[in-house]
Amino acid sequence: MVEANTQSSERPSLPMQGVPQPARDQVLNLPRVHISSHPVVAHKMTALRDKNTQSPEFYRLVKEIGSLLAYEATAALSLEETPIETPMGPMVGHRLAGGIGVTPVLRAGLGLAEGFREVIPDAQIWHLGLRRDEDTLQAMEYYNRLPHQIDLQVCYAVDPMLATGGSAIDAINVLKRRGIPRLSYVGIIAAPYGLLKLSQTHPDIDIYIGVLDDSLNDRGYILPGLGDAGDRQFGTF
Ligand code: URA
Repeated sequence: MVEANTQSSERPSLPMQGVPQPARDQVLNLPRVHISSHPVVAHKMTALRDKNTQSPEFYRLVKEIGSLLAYEATAALSLEETPIETPMGPMVGHRLAGGIGVTPVLRAGLGLAEGFREVIPDAQIWHLGLRRDEDTLQAMEYYNRLPHQIDLQVCYAVDPMLATGGSAIDAINVLKRRGIPRLSYVGIIAAPYGLLKLSQTHPDIDIYIGVLDDSLNDRGYILPGLGDAGDRQFGTF
């Protein structure tokens, strides 16, 4: 999830206070939403959520879950035929048709992007900095390292926590303006509110998440969640 802007001193009201939220079962069957059912993801998720898990272990788990979700999210990619020679003779093999991009939303998306790189080492990593205003929960772009030449089959926006959906929606908006043919979002934990918002705003993308949680608290944090994914990865409390 995006970093919070802690510069703001006045907090007149809590951003999610009194905001109606959908229930979990209302968003379980949204089109193009894929919720992992992999037991290893569930196992690692429990260690990740535990408040006693320290930063180095937390980062390692984010990365490992990133690799597992990358495996799931890349299952439908297109291939093209490529003739090769094995030591035994010629054959027609397959390779991914077009490049793969991964856009970590800074800074919490960095661990997930590392997990993707374990699965697709030649993926291009396009860093995108979005900062969340604590009062309004609006995401603001402060850094962008997207290339000018674009030749990708797909780009994955990765951000572990799909809470209000603000940063995920903005990240996809930025990527859509680059004209990438196919976009997906990958996150570790989603709240029903953010999942519904993202799915309704961008019905043309695939959304892959590790688990769907219950709700958001008044400050926009996911319950039961895992706390602040950026702080826990990088030890900044
Ligand atoms: N960002 C986080 O890091 N955690 C949440 O629960 C919500 C947003």
